[in-house]
Amino acid sequence: MKRVLSFSILLVVLCVMISTNYKTENSLEQKVDNLIQQMTLEEKIGQMTQISINYLLEGSELYKPALPYKLNLDSVHKTIVDKKVGSIFGCARGPFTLKQWQSFTTQIQDCAQKTRLQIPVIYGVDAIHGGTFVSGSTIFPQQIGLAATWNPELVKTLANVAAYECRATGVPWNFSPVLDMGRNPLWSRFFETFGEDVYLARAMGNATIDGYQGGILPDQHHVSACMKHFVGYSVPLSGKDRTQAWIDERMLREYFLPTFQDAINANALTLMVNSGEINGIPVHANKYLLTDVLRDELGFKGLVVTDFKDIILLHKSHHVAASYKEAVKLAINAGIDMSMVPYDFDFQKYLLELVNEGAVSMSRINESVRRILLTKFKLNLFEKPIPDFTKYPKFAGEEFTKLSLQGARESITLLKNEQLTLPFSSDKKLLVCGPTSDEMKFLNGPWTYSWQGDKEMYFPDAKHSIKEAMQFIGGENVKWLKTANLSTMLNFEKAEELASEVDAIVVCIGEQHGVEEKGNINNYLLPNVQYELVKKLSKLNKPIVLVINSGRPQIITEIEPFCDAILTCYLPGNEGGDALAQILYGQVNPSGKLPFTWHKYPHTISLYDHKYTDCNIEGEEAPYQPLYEFGYGLSYTTFEYSGLKLNQSNFSHDDTLEVEISVKNSGDKDGKEVVRVFISDIYASITPPLKRLRAFRKIYLKAGQTKLVRFSIPLNDLAFVNADNKWELESGDFSILIDHCNKTFSLK
Ligand code: BGC
Repeated sequence: MKRVLSFSILLVVLCVMISTNYKTENSLEQKVDNLIQQMTLEEKIGQMTQISINYLLEGSELYKPALPYKLNLDSVHKTIVDKKVGSIFGCARGPFTLKQWQSFTTQIQDCAQKTRLQIPVIYGVDAIHGGTFVSGSTIFPQQIGLAATWNPELVKTLANVAAYECRATGVPWNFSPVLDMGRNPLWSRFFETFGEDVYLARAMGNATIDGYQGGILPDQHHVSACMKHFVGYSVPLSGKDRTQAWIDERMLREYFLPTFQDAINANALTLMVNSGEINGIPVHANKYLLTDVLRDELGFKGLVVTDFKDIILLHKSHHVAASYKEAVKLAINAGIDMSMVPYDFDFQKYLLELVNEGAVSMSRINESVRRILLTKFKLNLFEKPIPDFTKYPKFAGEEFTKLSLQGARESITLLKNEQLTLPFSSDKKLLVCGPTSDEMKFLNGPWTYSWQGDKEMYFPDAKHSIKEAMQFIGGENVKWLKTANLSTMLNFEKAEELASEVDAIVVCIGEQHGVEEKGNINNYLLPNVQYELVKKLSKLNKPIVLVINSGRPQIITEIEPFCDAILTCYLPGNEGGDALAQILYGQVNPSGKLPFTWHKYPHTISLYDHKYTDCNIEGEEAPYQPLYEFGYGLSYTTFEYSGLKLNQSNFSHDDTLEVEISVKNSGDKDGKEVVRVFISDIYASITPPLKRLRAFRKIYLKAGQTKLVRFSIPLNDLAFVNADNKWELESGDFSILIDHCNKTFSLK
């Protein structure tokens, strides 16, 4: 009886919650409708306009506002009141202090209060791996490193930190996460992705959105996510940013839409569009993708913003519109809601003319304005355009620093450890050297205190580079020498001299990543001097530990044999130096696993979910030749898998595959392991990939401990997109692989 009663109470509570939500949504819609009825066309177009903060700052040149940064109140008034602009975005060339941010966002919202309808401004920024544009903020690993943690819970917690620090500046909108698939390592923004696998990227994307937005908006510690860049931005043929991609419909649906579909299901409020083109059509002008697919099929109801300047670029760069005005017509009719203009008001002039001429309908405008206003209501900006700035005591504090450190620790991936070279005891005499060993910018990459993240002066002094972190633990036993810049050898004789006094050499190599066009590369190989450095050092007959500091799999095949141990730390953020040192000294057991295939050769870049034809030939001619496989990563302990069991061996389409496996920590150190479940469809009407990741879990095992790990995988998850571009689950035989254990099963 008691149970029935508590069940009924639960039911009532649930019904009330659902109806309250429904009512809230409904009453917000009503508020939006009321507003829209009062708005002039100019006011509506103003809402659809987004202007860069650079336009509002004091200074003669747009791109170089004067220092110290200060708002030009005339420009603010002109933009918000005269031009009725509803959105501002970005930061200047360097970071603003927290105080500056708070004062700028407050002044902007104060100005919005002077407009006729007092509609608040929505400010957007790229807080993509922490509070990226705020001096001294918490910065954690870039997305590629977060994916390497294989720990969605941790990723959610870190996203929550980013949301908190973003909202602390008065900014409620984060242009993140990147849901583009990292399937072309040549692309300059590869490090911004969650890697090559769809399942892993979906898990990480969902966790991030959850962390940013929280269960219930609005509150003062969450922000709106902005999934980007819809869709297919990450696979330009040339690898160069914003150049042509060719993606067939089947591939688009199977590999590129699922991360977005999940994010939409997770209620991501906004979306940014891919600046490139797919199959000859720039996505900003692609009505099929932006309306038929995004709205009608995927069911997205939120706000769609362009990327930087992208409407103008339909005319100037893509050549699909003979004038800027034509470009505005194409983009708005394709389904764009807001234009990241970013520096002038011609967009407004042309859109006004187009509506008056009947080339863009009033209903199209109202639809966009409705989505924009609804987003502002959902973020509670009408009630509280500026949060209570006293509510952010944790900003850049110890709690967040520790979380960022945990992110870096769990991402760093041990790729080789011959003769147990690692971990070092703290009395080992070491030489730390190499081009990335002593600057914070190499640990962080772009979008860190500036767009390219390359200005060392903006990094907080208290954070440790690799050298500093190693010396922090090893003290006098750690010698350091700058043996090379990224592309020139320095001081090698001195290195030889120092090496004779040490027990091992830690060489840090990598690249200074750029982003967008500034990150385009002409050569996938590292500058030759970095390979030469490792080869020369290896002649000194000391164990060599190679640390790769990079957001993509670098080609290291020719130096790999000279190294006794190899680790990659991706772009681990401000705590990355400490995390790495703690791993090298064995204070932390590494648990990161590659979220991408580590290629052996620059022209052999097929991925783990390649086709059977990519591995029919063995040896050096094989199309698929990883140096390290997707999902690979060592530990200081060992794990043994046994007893793989399935609930049955013959399934029908609606069944769920229940999997059970036993994992034992068979070494003498506690550690974390990622249990990865791969499934192969053995024969299918579309050539099946060799295997696909279908489930994973990160577990912690004490030395000697065994755990039974269970997974439930609906058979439907094994569907693929067929020749008619429809998802289909075909009957046939499958095999499941977890570590070295495998079993087959059939689907009738
Ligand atoms: C980038 C976007 C970013 C936007 C705003 C663009 O250049 O492609 O990813 O969100 O700038 O900063």
